[in-house]
Amino acid sequence: MEIPLSKSKLALFGGMPVNTRPFAPRSTMGKDEARAAYDVVLSGELSGFLAAPGEANLGGRHVRALEHAWADLYKVRHAVSVNSWTSGLVCAVGALCLEPGDEVIIPPWTMSATAAAVLHWNAIPVFADVEPRTFNIDPSVVEALVSPRTRAIIAVDIFGLPANVRELKRIGLKHGVQVISDSAQTPWALDGGIRAGTLADIGGYSLNYHKHIHSGEGGIIVTDDDYTAQRMRLIRNHAESLISGYSYLGLANMIGFNFRMTEVDAAIAAIQLARVEEVVSRRRAISKRLVDLISTLPGLEPPFVPSGVEHDYYILGLQVSESLGVERDLVGRAITAEGIPGIMTNYVNLHRLPAFVHQQAFGSGGFPWSLRSERKFEYGTGVCPVAEALNDKSFLGIQLCNYEFTDEEIDMTIQAIDKVWANLVE
Ligand SMILES: *Cc1c(COP(=O)(O)O)cnc(C)c1O
Repeated sequence: MEIPLSKSKLALFGGMPVNTRPFAPRSTMGKDEARAAYDVVLSGELSGFLAAPGEANLGGRHVRALEHAWADLYKVRHAVSVNSWTSGLVCAVGALCLEPGDEVIIPPWTMSATAAAVLHWNAIPVFADVEPRTFNIDPSVVEALVSPRTRAIIAVDIFGLPANVRELKRIGLKHGVQVISDSAQTPWALDGGIRAGTLADIGGYSLNYHKHIHSGEGGIIVTDDDYTAQRMRLIRNHAESLISGYSYLGLANMIGFNFRMTEVDAAIAAIQLARVEEVVSRRRAISKRLVDLISTLPGLEPPFVPSGVEHDYYILGLQVSESLGVERDLVGRAITAEGIPGIMTNYVNLHRLPAFVHQQAFGSGGFPWSLRSERKFEYGTGVCPVAEALNDKSFLGIQLCNYEFTDEEIDMTIQAIDKVWANLVE
């Protein structure tokens, strides 16, 4: 007699796994990208940048074409390319003219680059907890954290869901604080018909290999403000050596880097940009199938999407409810044991990293916190209870962008989750 799969023993406890073959890694690259890269290589001009005043300070033909195409598609005045979105965040924070020791409010549920960009300008990250359902920075927490030294708020559109930038902008305008949108994971999300990343004073996207669309490494910063855009372009390309020609921009934080994108990356990124809708639509379709199943299961919450918002589903962020009576980590291990890759049982709590807990970044004397001896900054467990509970107890994610998720692979993922749920008593 055949035993239905959903009733068969969990692989975690020695049963047959649903899947025994590795999932195919996702690739968005095609012949058009290959041809674009090939043509640039044969042209011999792999970078058009010069660290000198003039046209070539703004990059080569493909870099500028990519920036124009991006600005058009996202309906912004300026798109500035960089060699990574980490570099983009450094440019964005640097463009704000903040003073060493100033504060920048950020969520803890994000990758370290969001905080590192603040520290790189000797400013101090202050962590605002996230909302329990969206995982994004909670505006109602932010307002209470604004101090006379707060200069910016960085919202992160985590897992592909836009943060509530409209509300953050309202708070920002009231207190003279700028809003930066880390939209690394939301290249095509919408909030009320507006592209994620473009509602903030400065926003931007990652073109890193692991993101929806990419050029291996790369990033794009967007802003409608001419002055901010100019300052970011300078920081990208050795600002201090060029500033004599741009003295009206001021000298504050005009310490430059080499964050320039190559012509090869720009040519590839331009092709990827033309395909962003197609690439993201596929992740949305995969998510829909998984969410349709998950919505029927007790004790497993699908992603919350506020009305008027379109999610990019970089990661499918779920929550295991306490009511399930089974620990999240065990659920995650059981699904993984069924042969499903990319199951996450935690994410990041930046406020609990040693650099913050010990308040040590530059050298060993507590800089930049030492600039603010009059104020005590709090980090560590207890500071962001919602993000901590997500990380320690309830969050369960599926990394949608790491694997192709063919129809067959989606079926197996659904079978595996179904099987684990059918066997929860074990
Ligand atoms: C990927 C990512 C970054 C960094 O982007 P890179 O292009 O890899 O430097 C920053 N913030 C978030 C939220 C990210 O997901």
